[in-house]
Amino acid sequence: MSKQKPDNEPTVAQQLAEVRAMQAKREEAKRTAAALPFVPVDEETQQQAFDAEKLFEESARLTAQEQAEIEEKRAKTYRYFVRCRRNHTRMPPHGVYLKKMPQAGMVASNDWYARYKKEGDQWMQPVVCQACLAERGEHVELNVTREGNYGAFRVNMRDLWKVAVDPKRRAIEGEIRAELLGPESSNFEVRAAQERLREAGMEVL
Ligand SMILES: [Zn+2]
Repeated sequence: MSKQKPDNEPTVAQQLAEVRAMQAKREEAKRTAAALPFVPVDEETQQQAFDAEKLFEESARLTAQEQAEIEEKRAKTYRYFVRCRRNHTRMPPHGVYLKKMPQAGMVASNDWYARYKKEGDQWMQPVVCQACLAERGEHVELNVTREGNYGAFRVNMRDLWKVAVDPKRRAIEGEIRAELLGPESSNFEVRAAQERLREAGMEVL
């Protein structure tokens, strides 16, 4: 039998919010103390300064933990792909699939797959769309840049997309860019999908 977490145990996000609130209070107390010129540094003030540092460490630890939890959830929820810009007749616009969300767009030779690439292949040829190849036998290069001599490449973030594995979530969210882009005007579709998820009571990841 697996041990269930008690319902009242706070989540990392809740703990983090609490620690941040305490931190804000401490910072405020510090500012107030600094504004009064002739307040002697008593034991309580020293203790507060010490507590503030502890809180800062705790907050950094929880932030990292929260980030790791989100990354893990995303990895389970989504399939990432490089989108093909051509129209396909039967197949979805999934040029090639990525095994995980790439850091800064970098994809190692083992971290992607396509119909034409065998597992473990170090692919040195152009990275082409698997759908265009299957449908029309056409080699359509995807928007990626080669990096180094070991088959790695960098994806243009405009063409890095994701689709939920769970059909229900997929139906609500659709296929969207994996990351928000710099100009907020480029993020209209992602924002709209996030809104639909919230309305359906689903978590935005
Ligand atoms: Zn294509």
